[in-house]
Amino acid sequence: MRAPVNKLIPFSSVDGPGNRFSIFFQGCNFNCLYCHNPETINLCSSCGACVDVCPNNALDVIDGKVVWKEAFCLKCDLCINECSNLSSPKVKYMSVEEILKEIIKYKTFLSGVTVSGGECMLYAEFLKELFKEIKNLNLTCFIDSNGLILFEGFNDLLNLTDAVMLDVKSFDEREHIMLTGKSNKNVLKNLVYLGSKGKLYEARTVVVPDVLDNVSNVDNVSRMIAKIDDKIRYKLIKFRPLGVRKEFSKIKIPSDDLMAKLKDIALKNGCKNVIIT
Ligand code: SF4
Ligand code: SF4
Repeated sequence: MRAPVNKLIPFSSVDGPGNRFSIFFQGCNFNCLYCHNPETINLCSSCGACVDVCPNNALDVIDGKVVWKEAFCLKCDLCINECSNLSSPKVKYMSVEEILKEIIKYKTFLSGVTVSGGECMLYAEFLKELFKEIKNLNLTCFIDSNGLILFEGFNDLLNLTDAVMLDVKSFDEREHIMLTGKSNKNVLKNLVYLGSKGKLYEARTVVVPDVLDNVSNVDNVSRMIAKIDDKIRYKLIKFRPLGVRKEFSKIKIPSDDLMAKLKDIALKNGCKNVIIT
């Protein structure tokens, strides 16, 4: 069994508690307007458009497939900028054993492993096998998910998972579809399900001025969290126009005043652990 991996980060302090090894899988079932790494959304179609822009011949076409020769790569990302398919030619199809080998190199310094994306739940069966092995290393297993795939269909995986970090991008169905291309029904179901199972480490909402109804989103989501378990962390994330598509690069960053106001709303609604990043 293999899964497409966009990148491995051996040390991360922003993907859950402690020092974490983060695995970013390629492919997503959302298409968020504000995505910070839109090149993770689709799998490469091997159209070949990026091959000739590579300044160091690190890309080739072999048997109709675009192949990345990592040893030659200058990490300039010209290939990603050229791709109109929201993809990257620098994706490796890795086995559980290959990923494990990388984790073991850093094990002494790690608290755990976080799987992210793209949307890592597209590879739930692969994650199950991976987490079995990670548990043998006495490391914690965290999932970072957009919540479209229902976790109640993957209880085997959830039993191996210490906690989930869940994006709740909009409380409003129409706004969620406008932003991501998909309904938020499963996201809200997952919020309740994971929270009631004690598996929700945090819920996150990105605040985007003039695009989303931020007050309504934070008001409604924080009410839900407080009802499920007021100790669940609610993270309010400032939109920043880094790595986003051109259309979103001019959207303004939320003010500190707006973030403070939203935090206040969540606290008043009963959430005990609200942070701004
Ligand atoms: S990042 Fe892409 S374009 Fe740049 S050297 Fe590597 S493969 Fe070539
Ligand atoms: S990364 Fe994009 S441009 Fe390059 S071959 Fe794949 S789909 Fe085509």
